[in-house]
Amino acid sequence: MADTSLDDAQLMRYARHILLDEFGIEAQERISSARVLIIGAGGLGSPAAYYLAAAGVGQITLVDNDEVDLSNLQRQILHNSERVGVNKALSGQQTLHALNPLIHIVPLPDRLDEAALHQLVPQHDVVLDCTDNFATRHAINRAAVAHRVPVVSGAGIRFSGQISVYDLRDPNAPCYHCLFPEADDVQELRCATTGVLGPLVGMVGCVQAAEALKLLGGFGEPLVGRLLSVDALTMQWHTVRFRKDPECLVCKQ
Ligand SMILES: [Zn+2]
Repeated sequence: MADTSLDDAQLMRYARHILLDEFGIEAQERISSARVLIIGAGGLGSPAAYYLAAAGVGQITLVDNDEVDLSNLQRQILHNSERVGVNKALSGQQTLHALNPLIHIVPLPDRLDEAALHQLVPQHDVVLDCTDNFATRHAINRAAVAHRVPVVSGAGIRFSGQISVYDLRDPNAPCYHCLFPEADDVQELRCATTGVLGPLVGMVGCVQAAEALKLLGGFGEPLVGRLLSVDALTMQWHTVRFRKDPECLVCKQ
């Protein structure tokens, strides 16, 4: 085996990733020394965090100020019946630690304001937006554009899911605001009032984990400038390309 910073336990645990030619030991080393910020430990954050912990991301910072509710357990697989009433970041930390004790998990039981985002985002290599409201999504986007940190964004409601990657390390790449300009009159759909298919957010969260591993490992072609949508009723997946808005209020040069 070539020189590597990975020890035997890591080489064994991540062997099926290392076996992949596109992945290999170099990508695993990058992933094992990477820091990922996951904002939201609900339906999207649960599968995303689970797969990233399994893949050995060096540090996962898991943010959620909410507590586990019985009605979350139909889809939020980081949590369980015994943890109803427990903060989701702390509950998630327990699950992820049991899965992979080799990695560092930092739970933040807070709601991040603009100042906190500007402090936290540049301390990470990739941000996963697993939130459920436009105001937070736009705040994450502003911090990520300012600090040139890539964001893997997921959304899911009813039977519909969407995923894209915003990576402003390339100044010509579009940001979240280029695609979804901020407006006062947007109608926000919430799972609490409209319902959501459990495996739908599972699929979206898994795609987010895959995109994050590609960004960290440096292989494949991330979903930059492409919006991937799934309709779970017909199980049709679509990709729509979009460009940078040269007049975007957030990322204009
Ligand atoms: Zn923009």
